[in-house]
Amino acid sequence: MTSAGHSYSPATLQLHAGYTPGTPHNSVATPIYQTSAYQFASLEDAREMFALRKAGNIYSRNGTPTQAIFEKRLAALEGGGSAAAVGSGQAATTVASLALAGRGGHIVASSSLYGGTVDLFDDTFRDLGIDVTFVDPDDLAAWRDAVRPTTRLLFAETVANPIAQVLDIRAVADIAHDAGVPLVVDNTVGTPALIRVKDHGADIVVHSATKFIGGHGTSLGGAVIDLGTFDFAAEPERWPGLFEPHWRFGDVPLWEAFGREGAFTTLLKSKYIADLGPALSPFNAFQLLEGLETLDLRMARHTASALQVATFLDEHPGVRVVHHPGLATNRYHASAQRQYPKGIPSVFAFELAQPDDADAEESFAHAARFIDRLDVVKLVANIGDARTLVCHPASMTHNHMTPAQLAAAGITWATLRLSVGLEDPDDLVADLARALDETGAG
Ligand SMILES: *Cc1c(COP(=O)(O)O)cnc(C)c1O
Repeated sequence: MTSAGHSYSPATLQLHAGYTPGTPHNSVATPIYQTSAYQFASLEDAREMFALRKAGNIYSRNGTPTQAIFEKRLAALEGGGSAAAVGSGQAATTVASLALAGRGGHIVASSSLYGGTVDLFDDTFRDLGIDVTFVDPDDLAAWRDAVRPTTRLLFAETVANPIAQVLDIRAVADIAHDAGVPLVVDNTVGTPALIRVKDHGADIVVHSATKFIGGHGTSLGGAVIDLGTFDFAAEPERWPGLFEPHWRFGDVPLWEAFGREGAFTTLLKSKYIADLGPALSPFNAFQLLEGLETLDLRMARHTASALQVATFLDEHPGVRVVHHPGLATNRYHASAQRQYPKGIPSVFAFELAQPDDADAEESFAHAARFIDRLDVVKLVANIGDARTLVCHPASMTHNHMTPAQLAAAGITWATLRLSVGLEDPDDLVADLARALDETGAG
């Protein structure tokens, strides 16, 4: 949303961008258009819309007015460009990656990724002939060495869970740009309230809006935002989906018809989302918009409470290590301070103190005794909820990883992940303190 050259700040954009109340009902809140399809004014109109010569609503798998507001608002918060919303974060990563690398391309990805992304890249994408090389996200030489002539994107999370590795976005973006490909970041944990990845060199953002953007743990959703920074036109032969004329789009290249602002998003919507079908429901789009309205307020509470909880755990003898980049001893502390001046994301991990020779079963039993004593903190395989959630990655979200993959992601059988919610942080600390004291040493 801009007015007379003035651009509004995020707290204003998260309430207004993408929607101006208007006819027929002047609803000040964003309406939900709960309809599967839309009536055309005329057959001529229908023809123009199907041919992508005229924008408009056709069928809700292709988009809805509520979703369009969500897309505009999210793009505004990320700093511009255009967005495509989908039914889950998983679908966002899928369509973004397919649009870039779907024709037998190669992906270089961080080895510290959400478990569902690892499965997608390591299993389903391999089935489809898309090869993925995983690298230590901190090892810049490894990123550079993994690039091949067929590489079409670099992929990483801004802050990877469970152990909160902080990506040096600028350094990896520079490597991507030297290779002539975009850097795609999953900014689910960072959120646009804490970091504008565009300012650090990222080109395309994917979100699981299920998490902090929705914020209430009620609704799945995802989005891909093309920040408009990557110059696809520098090597058009690499991106046939954008530059080859295609029979589906009137034999006109999408780049010619929609330009730098809209071509990639149109490719996502008109091909991958339309064909694969991961649509966002109008009702979920509405709930995600409600979440966005308070994003910056909630993130401020999440981050402050997480730091208070992490500091408490760090000082407790029942805890061996706390992986929170806000702690001065954390290896990502300086990088986090530099990139996240408004607060460090609130998903982090810690390890219960144990004898050095504890094996996986003993560590699991120790973790189980601790978790079963928690009251306020809930055992849930999710993050970004208004409630505080704990999970045991080795037996839950990352349960099928090999020992080598677990080690690469910094996960042990004593690792517990916390997503700190919006409760009074003193109640959270008291809950954790009581459970730690009752559990005793491993
Ligand atoms: C949850 C999550 C996803 C997947 O999102 P869904 O909405 O569950 O499909 C992707 N990346 C990260 C970092 C996540 O936490």
